[in-house]
Amino acid sequence: MKRAIYPGTFDPITFGHVDIIKRASLIFDKIIVAVVKNSFKDTLFSYEERVNLLKKATKGIKKIEVEGFEGLVVDFAVKKNINVIIRGLRMISDFEYEFQMALTNRKLSSRIETIFLMPHAGYSYLSSRLVKEIASLGGNLDDFLPRVCVSALNKKIGRR
Ligand code: ADP
Repeated sequence: MKRAIYPGTFDPITFGHVDIIKRASLIFDKIIVAVVKNSFKDTLFSYEERVNLLKKATKGIKKIEVEGFEGLVVDFAVKKNINVIIRGLRMISDFEYEFQMALTNRKLSSRIETIFLMPHAGYSYLSSRLVKEIASLGGNLDDFLPRVCVSALNKKIGRR
């Protein structure tokens, strides 16, 4: 069975993440969407909230499991006996960081390969950071986020 890990902060999950998960599910038999528990980034949503939104937003997609992890992704991968990490590549601007990360992970564990998937062009500009900014400025989020995330984000930011 071909399995892969898709790690991220998912604060919150956007249509871009969903797109990558769907594409990965056409290639792999099982995808573990691995949610960073204690992120270096300050998250708007708690770990429990991020997992809950992710589960709801991906409800119809078979072949996925949502799990949390702490520490290095490679350690989590080894623990799970999985040697593929999936990452999304939006723009050239993602490339340098992702390239560094992929090679660092390979150095940490030579068995691990990182596979990059590109989202639909319509989502290539989308980021969780951007949607949080739009929400705080009162913009419409319907084109960017699953419905459950739109209401959760508006509620969090104090708009309904
Ligand atoms: P991280 O903190 O690990 O970067 P994110 O939740 O921001 O976590 O992103 C997880 C992965 O999803 C990363 O590989 C990121 O490049 C990718 N990603 C984020 N937004 C999009 C998008 N709109 N389209 C495709 N991939 C995306």
